[in-house]
Amino acid sequence: MNKEISDHNLGLYLHWPFCESKCGYCDFYSVPLKGRDVAPLLDAFAIDLRSRVAECDKQIDTIFWGGGTPTTLEDDNLSIALGHIQNATSNHPIREFTIEANPATVDERKAATLVDLGVTRVSLGAQSFHQNELSALERLHTPRDVPEAIRIIRAAGITHYNIDLIFGIGGQTLASWQESLARAVELEPPHLACYGLTYEHGTSLTKQLKLGHIEACDEQLEADMFLACKDYLERCGYEQYELSNYAKPGHQCLHNLIYWKNGSYQAVGPSAAGCLGNIRFKNVSDINEYIRLINSNGHAIADREIIGETERALEGLMMRMRLIDGLDLADFLRCTGINLIENCRNAIARLTDSELIVCDESKLRMTRRGLLMADTVIRELASELDPPSGMSLNVVASRPIGDA
Ligand code: SF4
Repeated sequence: MNKEISDHNLGLYLHWPFCESKCGYCDFYSVPLKGRDVAPLLDAFAIDLRSRVAECDKQIDTIFWGGGTPTTLEDDNLSIALGHIQNATSNHPIREFTIEANPATVDERKAATLVDLGVTRVSLGAQSFHQNELSALERLHTPRDVPEAIRIIRAAGITHYNIDLIFGIGGQTLASWQESLARAVELEPPHLACYGLTYEHGTSLTKQLKLGHIEACDEQLEADMFLACKDYLERCGYEQYELSNYAKPGHQCLHNLIYWKNGSYQAVGPSAAGCLGNIRFKNVSDINEYIRLINSNGHAIADREIIGETERALEGLMMRMRLIDGLDLADFLRCTGINLIENCRNAIARLTDSELIVCDESKLRMTRRGLLMADTVIRELASELDPPSGMSLNVVASRPIGDA
């Protein structure tokens, strides 16, 4: 299978807004399920899905179903939802279909349903193998749930799976982080995503931090954790292909590569955000309003904007620099009309002198030291491209959409 992703590829992001409970660090739109009837949302989801897929002018290559936690659906409803997805995308050559799963929400029946109805990849939010750290993150599952979930996934025949881990948790030590990494690697995931904890606006952890009830991780310790992770996983045969993502050969996440290559993706579900060329849009972040709008208007788009050429180019710069392979200068020129060597001459000279980036004739990429200061590197480069006022240039904090 050709694993290359180009700007001709199109992704489909699906957002399921329910979780068992709300994790303390999560700012994605998700609400606790609490025995709610999901039938009206499933009906609206099917309408949204059909119309969004019908309006795609390219073939969809990848599907990513996140949220929220899609695997909170009971098996019969999971079958219904997957049936809708399969029907809507049956004319598209789907190369990868990822579903987000929480370790406590996977069982044999659901795993068989996933395989039967087209899911090819599972992303499991393990986050830590220490109960005190999971409690600090306000996660419901236990460390024991993770190997059991992986056993079930593998037994069902899914060989592409990812484990998410978080470092920089208050109270976490370098040793406990290294132990979590080792426990994850023992489960032989072909892909690992390792994110630094961020304190997002409005989350429970951010409130506790502001009140002084918890302490943030020391910055130097967090940098040590990042490098320990990189070095350990590379020794274990994983390739770091993005700031936070590691894969065995042939197991990079094709859907997330579309984001990082600043490609186009369609979006379905409450709060789902999409980007098609220079049009960015987001569905309403309210389940009842989403259902009402879909049933009355056929869509639930709350925000829609045309992105200016400079902003689109800056987004491309920010996303592509996340890739360890770096930014292809000729490709960037072709896509944006911007010659970075000429337009960012001063920043490139400063960053090269500081050994934060390497620039050869074809690529611009961050060094090991630069990866630790990705925000600074991006800001320096972007500042010479005249970013529109109010545009966030924060690169390290950005996680891909969806996280169970
Ligand atoms: S982190 Fe994942 S499981 Fe937790 S509330 Fe957010 S989407 Fe749900």
